[in-house]
Amino acid sequence: MTKSAIVTGSTSGIGLGIATSLAAAGYNIMLNGFGDAAEIEKVKTGLAQKHGIKTAYSAADMSKPADIRQMVADTVEAFGSVDVLINNAGIQFTALTEDFPDEKWDAIIAINLSAAFHASKAALPHMKKQKWGRIINIASAHGLVGSAQKVAYVAAKHGIIGMTKVVAIEAANDGVTCNAICPGWVLTPLVQKQIEDRAQKNGTSVEAEKAALLGEKQPMKQFTTPEHLGGLAVYLCSDNAETTTGTALSVDGGWVAE
Ligand code: NAD
Repeated sequence: MTKSAIVTGSTSGIGLGIATSLAAAGYNIMLNGFGDAAEIEKVKTGLAQKHGIKTAYSAADMSKPADIRQMVADTVEAFGSVDVLINNAGIQFTALTEDFPDEKWDAIIAINLSAAFHASKAALPHMKKQKWGRIINIASAHGLVGSAQKVAYVAAKHGIIGMTKVVAIEAANDGVTCNAICPGWVLTPLVQKQIEDRAQKNGTSVEAEKAALLGEKQPMKQFTTPEHLGGLAVYLCSDNAETTTGTALSVDGGWVAE
């Protein structure tokens, strides 16, 4: 039977890249995320037609546990199983800890961390029952090291790596693996906004700030792409990765090597 994958936050950036790679590898895809309804419909029908797979879309808000449970139930209803879960949806906000708004802390913890718990909790019984499953948490280099002004994001990303280890241990003999991917800079709308904010604040150009951003953190002065991350996700779902579990895999141009 064709396997199916939920990719949270797949209307943009990394999630869309991973959904595209998994569709090309033959998985049915449950898309999720916010955005323009016509654009989402285009992605949904486009992936299905190009790759001969089934697609569906859940408008679940990752800050709402009941929505998340419904998204998992809708996937089983649409495709007959949930085999792969990519916990990817995420948001960012930057400020010093003493200035960090409480509601931004709560939203980042809910969407970047708790959503992965609720989705994993709902999907694991299906995966364990069928003795096959893959959970991939999109963490970050910020799951392994910190940066100023990102208290909630760094806390959430360190937390998701901890959760990855626990789920991996608990599911170790059920054919289910759980791993985290830790990207460095990927030029998505989430990062583009940080670059534009910096250019405005510093009175510089977007191109200058792109180079500065890479230069501060990465020995390799190039962005990782959603396609790179899609390729790794497909590998983690393959038979060759059946004993790769509980890991945090860096794809970061050497960021955490320093
Ligand atoms: P993006 O802004 O391009 O995409 C984020 C996606 O999440 C969108 O589809 C958006 O609609 C969805 N989303 C946001 N809030 C949601 C909610 N409440 N419910 C459902 N969906 C919601 O960002 P991106 O850069 O592709 O980030 C994806 C993931 O990768 C995030 O977890 C981010 O922390 C992580 N990451 C990004 C980078 C980077 O450099 N871009 C680096 C490391 C990790």
